[in-house]
Amino acid sequence: MSYGISYAGAESDYDSADAFILGIPYDRTSSFKAGAREAPFHIRRASYNFEEIHFEHGLDLPSLNIFDQGNCEDFFSPEDMMDEVGFFMAPAIRDGKFTVAIGGEHSVNIPIMRCFGDDVALLTIDAHLDSRDEYMGTVYSHACVTRRAAEHLGIDNVFALGVRSVSREELERDDVVHHITSFEIKEKGIEWAVRTALETVENERVYLSLDIDGIDPAFAPGTGTPEPFGLDPMDVKKAIGLIGERLAGFDVTEVCPPADPSGITSVLAARYINEALAVHARNII
Ligand code: MN
Ligand code: MN
Repeated sequence: MSYGISYAGAESDYDSADAFILGIPYDRTSSFKAGAREAPFHIRRASYNFEEIHFEHGLDLPSLNIFDQGNCEDFFSPEDMMDEVGFFMAPAIRDGKFTVAIGGEHSVNIPIMRCFGDDVALLTIDAHLDSRDEYMGTVYSHACVTRRAAEHLGIDNVFALGVRSVSREELERDDVVHHITSFEIKEKGIEWAVRTALETVENERVYLSLDIDGIDPAFAPGTGTPEPFGLDPMDVKKAIGLIGERLAGFDVTEVCPPADPSGITSVLAARYINEALAVHARNII
C-alpha cells in the first residue's frame, strides 16, 4: 500500500464496513495526457474539504461505516492491473460491501465489472462512448470500457450518458452501445436521460462509472482528454440521486492532477464520492 492518507471519515475496519474504498493509481493506457495515477492521493486529500453532514439528504456520513483499503499497486501491464483490482474487489463485492473505486484511468472499471459477474447494469457518465473493441494494442484500454462490460452483461445492460465524442467505428456497427448525448441532455433534462437509461437496462442493480470528462471542462478541467459541451455538475449530482435504491457501486476515473493546478477537479470528484456514499447510506439506514 503506497498512500499517505485514508478517505475522510473512513474509520471502520473491514468486517463492520458498509462501504469499501479502493484507490487504483493506474494510467498506463492513457491516450492523451497521463497523470491519473496521482488522482487517488489528491481526491482523498480533497475529501477533507467537506463537512460530514449531508443536510440535503438529512443524514450524517459518519452514520455509514466506511473502510479504505488504500491503493493497489501501479502496474505497467493492463493484465496485471486487472488481476490486482480483482484481488481486492472480488471479496468486497462478495461480502456485500458498497464498493467505491478511485481511478486511475477509466480502464480500472473493466476488472470491477467482471467481479460483479452478470448481476448489474453499467451506467457510465462520459464524454466518450468507450466502446472500441481494442485501442492502441490492448483490449483493456480506457477506450474499451463499455465494450468489455457488454461482453458479459449483454448490450442491453450498458448505457452511456453525456457522450459527445465517438469514432465512426463505434457508431457503424449493429451492437452500438446505448447512449444519450450531452446535447440531448441539455435539451430534455437529466431526469429524462436517467429515467430512459434505467428503463432500458434489464438488470435491477445499476453500477455507476463516472468518467470525470463527462462533466464540462469548465468545471472539471483536470482530465486527460477534455471535451467541451459537457454536463452540468449539478446534473451529475442529481443523476446519482435518481439511480437511488438501484445504485450498486460507484467509481470515479480520469481525474488528472497534473492538469488540475487549482485542485478543483479532485474536489468535485471527492464530492461525487460523498454523494454516492450518501445515496447508499439513505438506502440502507
Ligand atoms: Mn471513459
Ligand atoms: Mn472520457
